[in-house]
Amino acid sequence: MAAEEKLLEIKNLKKYFPVKAGVFRRTVGYVKAVDDISFFIKNGETLGLVGESGCGKSTTGRTILRLLEATSGEIWFEGRNLLDLNKREMRSMRKEMQIIFQDPYASLNPRMTVEGIVGEPLDIHNLVSNKKERREKVKQILKSVGLSEEHMKRYPHEFSGGQRQRIGVARALAVDPSLIISDEPVSALDVSIQAQVINLMQDLQAEYGLTYLFIAHDLSVVKHISDRIAVMYLGKIVELCEKRELFKNPMHPYTQSLLSAIPIADPTAKKDRIILEGDVPSPVDPPSGCRFHPRCPRAMDICSEKEPEFKDYGDEHFAACHLLD
Ligand code: SF4
Repeated sequence: MAAEEKLLEIKNLKKYFPVKAGVFRRTVGYVKAVDDISFFIKNGETLGLVGESGCGKSTTGRTILRLLEATSGEIWFEGRNLLDLNKREMRSMRKEMQIIFQDPYASLNPRMTVEGIVGEPLDIHNLVSNKKERREKVKQILKSVGLSEEHMKRYPHEFSGGQRQRIGVARALAVDPSLIISDEPVSALDVSIQAQVINLMQDLQAEYGLTYLFIAHDLSVVKHISDRIAVMYLGKIVELCEKRELFKNPMHPYTQSLLSAIPIADPTAKKDRIILEGDVPSPVDPPSGCRFHPRCPRAMDICSEKEPEFKDYGDEHFAACHLLD
């Protein structure tokens, strides 16, 4: 693929958090939240990033934006490695990369009006020259997310959960970014409202040519919006491919188990649910070899000894599993 088609490319990204103990708070180990992952996102596409809670997907999103500092690796965005940028350069780059958080209740300042919340990034990046221009711009952004002028003077507590997430989307859109990282943007919302917010995000993507990294713990949520899907388990990406291919031909046993858990509309259709034993192991001391081996229904001797390579098995269908070799 031509480099210019990739808006974002992550190479061997690691994010380890030190574990401190004792009176002197010595480092006694590391939580390997993100452990050597590589992927790219094409211009204008949505990459869904899926996995159970604690698998490192939110840490991945935050590390890309440098809200958390990477332990090592490369994050290429518009031709520059973000990890080489100083604070000032990174601040101006942030205009291009915005984030929408899971909890619209917690991520909006309760003491600010909607006009203040959506207008703040315009001020930070000097995108408006006076109050009138700011007001007009905020009005126009609110309209694009389905809110109106009369909402401008209201405070976050006066809105429903779905409307609050629309305000979160408006704030992200305000600076006209090219990439939006959505960190479980609909998980806190009712199912009926989830679809509205996802549809809105799709409409905005088409209108503004946005590129999304859409993080969720549920494959059924990312199914609708994603072009490609990456499945994460305990700090590693275990499978990544085009959406239809993933649903039709899941290669990794973990992906197969996630897919088997999705309810199907047809009550007469048969589906065997794959129940995984045990909980996700600790990322402080992850299992040897394939990290999924203690829970994998198809584990072999080699699985606890050797880490499977993350490889392309044709047509950009990447997976890491010894069964495929
Ligand atoms: Fe299961 Fe082994 Fe494949 Fe890991 S490498 S997913 S343990 S079969």
